[in-house]
Amino acid sequence: MILLRKVTPTFQPAYDFLCPQRIVFGWGRREQVGELARTLGHRAFLVNGSRTLERSRVVEDLGERLKKEGVEPVEIGSIAHEPEVEDVDNLASRLRELGAGEGDLLVAIGGGSAIDLAKAGCAMATNTESPTVKDYLEGVGVGLALEKDPLPLLAMPTTAGTGSEATKNAVISSYDPLFKKSLRSDRMVPRVVIVDPELHVSVPAKTTAYTGMDAITQLIESYISVRAKPLPQALSLQGLALAAPSIVRAVKDGGDREARERMAHAALLSGMALANSGLGMAHGVAPALGIHSRVPHGLACAVMLPVALRTNSGVRAAEIAQLAEGICGRKFARAAEAVDATVERIEQLCDEVGIPRTLGEIGVRREQLPAIVKSSYGNSMSGNPRKIPEDELTSILERML
Ligand code: NAD
Repeated sequence: MILLRKVTPTFQPAYDFLCPQRIVFGWGRREQVGELARTLGHRAFLVNGSRTLERSRVVEDLGERLKKEGVEPVEIGSIAHEPEVEDVDNLASRLRELGAGEGDLLVAIGGGSAIDLAKAGCAMATNTESPTVKDYLEGVGVGLALEKDPLPLLAMPTTAGTGSEATKNAVISSYDPLFKKSLRSDRMVPRVVIVDPELHVSVPAKTTAYTGMDAITQLIESYISVRAKPLPQALSLQGLALAAPSIVRAVKDGGDREARERMAHAALLSGMALANSGLGMAHGVAPALGIHSRVPHGLACAVMLPVALRTNSGVRAAEIAQLAEGICGRKFARAAEAVDATVERIEQLCDEVGIPRTLGEIGVRREQLPAIVKSSYGNSMSGNPRKIPEDELTSILERML
C-alpha cells in the first residue's frame, strides 16, 4: 500500500510546452475582439458554431466590433455538428476562391466543432498539395504534412469544453469511409484566444454536462498519460479543483456566473494540458463511439472515464491519488483510499449531471463493438499509461453494455 505522504510528483526534467501566443480571459471580454483581431490581419473570415449566438446577435455584434477597428468581417461558414472532411474541404475551397492569404485571419466563435473547422480551414488555405484534408489526417489518406504556416486564428470558445482553443489539432470525421481523426501540427495552435464565459450562459444543460465532463476527462488523462509533463500537470491540479465543484452548478443553473467562469478556465487549462501531454483510454475510445454509434464527444468521454480510471489505477495509483484532493475536496491518508474515492466521486458527478453508466443507454449495440475496438487505437490511446490489448478492451466494453 502506498502512503500519500511518501508520494513524490513525477517530474520530467526536459520538455517543450506549446500554447497560444495571447490568452484574454474574462466575463465580457469579447468586446476586445476588434483590437485583438487587428494584431493578426485586416480581413477576418468568421466561422460560427452556434445558431443561438447568431439569433441573439452576438455574431452580428462581433462583426460590428471588427469593423470599428478597421478589420473587414466576412461571414464564411457556420456549423452545428462535429466537422466532417467535406465541411473542411468546402471551407478551404471558399477561402482559396476569395484569395485568402497575407493580411487575412479567421475568427472562430463556437464550441470545439467550429474551432476545429476553422483551424483545419486555416491550415488547408495555405497547404495546397491536395484538395482534401483527408490526405493530411493522422492514420488515413497519404500522410501529407503541413509544410506552410496556416492563416492565423483567433478562437472564441462558447462551450467549456474541448479546450480546442489551446490545442494543436482539429478533429475531423467521415461517415464514408468511417473514421474520426486529427489534423495535427505545432503550427495549428490558435494565435489569440478570447475566453469570455458570458458566451457560455446560453449553452443548454445537456451540452454543459457533456462538454464539462470532456474537460474533466482531459485534465485527468493528460495528468496520468505516458507523455505527462510538469507544466500541464500543474494546470490539471488547478483545473480539477475548479471544475469538480462547479460542473453540477453550471448544469443546474446556466446563469451561475462563477460556475461558468470556473468551467471556462478549467476547459482552457485542459486544452493546454492535452496538447502537451496527450491523453489516454477514454479519449481513445470516444472517437470510435462517435463515429460508429454517433455518440457526442463529451458524452462518450464521460461514460468511459470511470472505467478508464479503474483500468489504469494499478499503474498510476500515486498520480490518481495526487488528483484526489481537487476532485473530492478533501485529503486522504492512503493512496488506495484516494483512488477509490476519486473514481466514486467521478461516478457521482456523472450521475448528478445526467451521464448514463452503460454503453447501451447511449445507443451502442453489441454488434458495433468489434469496429469500435479496432478504431480505438489512435494518438490518444498511445498516451494511455498501460497497453490495453484488443481482447481486453473488448471485454471491458462488453461489460459496459
Ligand atoms: P460542439 O461545438 O459540437 O457544440 C455542441 C452544440 O452546442 C452544438 O449544437 C452547438 O451549436 C451548440 N453551442 C455551442 N455553443 C453554444 C452556446 N454558447 N449557446 C448555445 N448553444 C451552443 O461541441 P463541443 O463538445 O464543444 O465540440 C466537440 C468537437 O470538438 C468534437 O468533434 C470533438 O472531437 C472535438 N474536440 C476537439 C479537441 C481539439 O483539441 N481540437 C479536443 C476535444 C474535442
